[in-house]
Amino acid sequence: MQDTAMAETTQCDKHLFEDATGMCRTCRRPFCADCLVYAHGPDKAPLCVPCALQASGVRSTVSKGRRGRGMSGRLLASVAATAATAVLAIPVLSAIH
Ligand SMILES: [Zn+2]
Ligand SMILES: [Zn+2]
Repeated sequence: MQDTAMAETTQCDKHLFEDATGMCRTCRRPFCADCLVYAHGPDKAPLCVPCALQASGVRSTVSKGRRGRGMSGRLLASVAATAATAVLAIPVLSAIH
């Protein structure tokens, strides 16, 4: 049966007309070469693009998030100080006039 032959061919989970060349080590779905990222080298099991982005994105977001909070905290403090100075300066300036 031709239906059986078609069922044996594994298609990419994203590109239904592409044959899968590998399986994502995280979500274990078949993907074509375009969808697989060998983030751990050609000898290790590949990741699909969403899983690779998630794996790298989570790490960078955590490190950036910690630094970002410190930066935004300082920025907020300086902005608040500037705003306070402006608020204090406005009545003084209007009093002078
Ligand atoms: Zn995946
Ligand atoms: Zn694909």
